[in-house]
Amino acid sequence: MTDRESLVKKAPPPGRLAADFAAPRGRVYDSITETVGGTPLVALPRLTAQDGLKARVLLKLEFFNPLGSVKDRIGVAMLRDAEARGDITPGKTVLVEPTSGNTGISLAFAAAAMGYRLIVAMPESASIERRKMLRLMDVQLELTPANLGMGGAIRRAEDLVKALPDAWMPSQFQNDANPAVHAMTTAEEIWTDTSGEVDCVVAGLGTGGTASGIAHALKPRKPGLKVYGVEPAESAVLNGDEPGPHGIQGIGPGFCPHTLDLKALDGVLDISERDALATARRCARVEGIPIGISSGAALYAALQLAAQSEHEGRTIVAIAPSFAERYLSTTLFTGLS
Ligand code: PMP
Repeated sequence: MTDRESLVKKAPPPGRLAADFAAPRGRVYDSITETVGGTPLVALPRLTAQDGLKARVLLKLEFFNPLGSVKDRIGVAMLRDAEARGDITPGKTVLVEPTSGNTGISLAFAAAAMGYRLIVAMPESASIERRKMLRLMDVQLELTPANLGMGGAIRRAEDLVKALPDAWMPSQFQNDANPAVHAMTTAEEIWTDTSGEVDCVVAGLGTGGTASGIAHALKPRKPGLKVYGVEPAESAVLNGDEPGPHGIQGIGPGFCPHTLDLKALDGVLDISERDALATARRCARVEGIPIGISSGAALYAALQLAAQSEHEGRTIVAIAPSFAERYLSTTLFTGLS
């Protein structure tokens, strides 16, 4: 046998390798906005085996969204909802949002793809990667003094909306399209992908839209299904503590937002920044899934629930809102060189 023949013999039969990959989507999209959602649920066999857990823990990888976070869902949904109400018009309305997080990046791509100008107000302390991503998508940045925190950015955005002739603020913490899109899409995907075999969902609480939307859609469908929120232990306001500084970006805004329906949840678990970081790093190392810090917090909470005897044989889904790379300049990467 020649070398070439033996190589051909060793190659997998046609189609075998492709069968391990995601199926073709079978369509062409008219806009990037249509590619949001449909994110995969992935099992964590090595992590659960290491911990000797008897529950199935699944991670919903929201960084498969086009701009890399769970916020892509509301970036598109809030604009589509406002268009349907006649509140905004492409080429005319200027969108203004105070945000130092993933929402800015998600609104930026949705605004560009749908024909809107966007102004983002954020504290000058926001990371350079974030600011540059926004500038790449032609967003106008309004940087406010770092010592005024998000409060300063919110006031600047409100002043701009008053001053500009045709401005509109999506207001992610107030906008009902936020929990609604999670009820319609995120929850539906979890239900379909598990064929209804889901007993518990764990999600970090920023606006609360993800957890509340999932609870609204899934709890009536399956009595006994539990939905838990996660907040930083360093700022456990939902469990009665004082707000405080913490490093779990995206969750723990320090107040109870309109978009969070606490009554719909089965409880709020307080997770420390330390446990969130350790779990995010562990997930990267052990499973090859480099998740962000708030994902680490949700996963840590899910692993704790999975260790309880009542969850034996049950399926727990943790939401992973974003990817490790968005936190390059944070403590997630401290000590690595
Ligand atoms: N984690 C990260 C990284 C986020 O950007 C967000 C959204 N702020 C969340 C968690 C929480 O999602 P929600 O606002 O739907 O509660």
